[in-house]
Amino acid sequence: MQLVVENLTVAYDNIMALHGISFSVDKGEIVTIIGANGAGKSTTLRAISRMIPSVHGSVIKFNGENILKYSTDKVVSKLGISHVPEGRMIFGNLTVTENLTLACFARKDRDQMVKDKKWVFDLFSRLDERKNQLAGTLSGGEQQMLAVGRAYMSGRKIMILDEPSMGLAPLLMLDMFEALKEINRLGTTILLVEQNARLALKFAQRGYVLENGNIVLEGKASDLLIDPEVKKAYLGA
Ligand code: ATP
Repeated sequence: MQLVVENLTVAYDNIMALHGISFSVDKGEIVTIIGANGAGKSTTLRAISRMIPSVHGSVIKFNGENILKYSTDKVVSKLGISHVPEGRMIFGNLTVTENLTLACFARKDRDQMVKDKKWVFDLFSRLDERKNQLAGTLSGGEQQMLAVGRAYMSGRKIMILDEPSMGLAPLLMLDMFEALKEINRLGTTILLVEQNARLALKFAQRGYVLENGNIVLEGKASDLLIDPEVKKAYLGA
């Protein structure tokens, strides 16, 4: 397994957000964690990208290496784990191109960077048309694309995404998931957390269901899609 998380436990002040969850993601896989508001999905991703420093007694390994010894920036630059956070976190007063360039501050492979930037613009033609526009003036959906483009430029071994469907109109949502499929096809592993369980389970190969900080169910995404409990709680059936 490329990413192994064991007994991940996170508390904010005295409130437990994750009660020792364990899961794994294989190289090249698309895995989703679904759950309701407040289940702990974002917390899980923030722990992996080291934005939450204190994870009591937990093990997080990437390609067999303990990632807990790395700082947030090294998790991206040394390990290749790129996080697309909820709320996007792009630089609003920089242009689209500047945002993409800044994402690869730690890279030295200039020629490949130029190719990657072109690839991002080929993948998201809306960004290509808006290269010199300030990112803060992009629509919500375009900002979401830019956030994914930035993650592609910065890391690349695994992309961890927090609700990429949020705020997107249905057609743009499908475009976004098509783009993610393409990124995966080229070799990037994907771990995705989503409230839109139906979309996420159709997209992923495996899934985990997170409830109140515990994983209560896991399995093949196609099995979870027809699981009566999942249907009742998450698929509105
Ligand atoms: P959503 O789908 O609504 O984004 P989520 O599954 O991503 O929810 P988290 O954001 O991980 O959930 O939150 C898990 C729990 O931890 C929630 O009860 C939340 O209120 C709490 N929490 C998250 N961040 C903090 C924080 N910085 N300080 C205190 N409590 C927090």
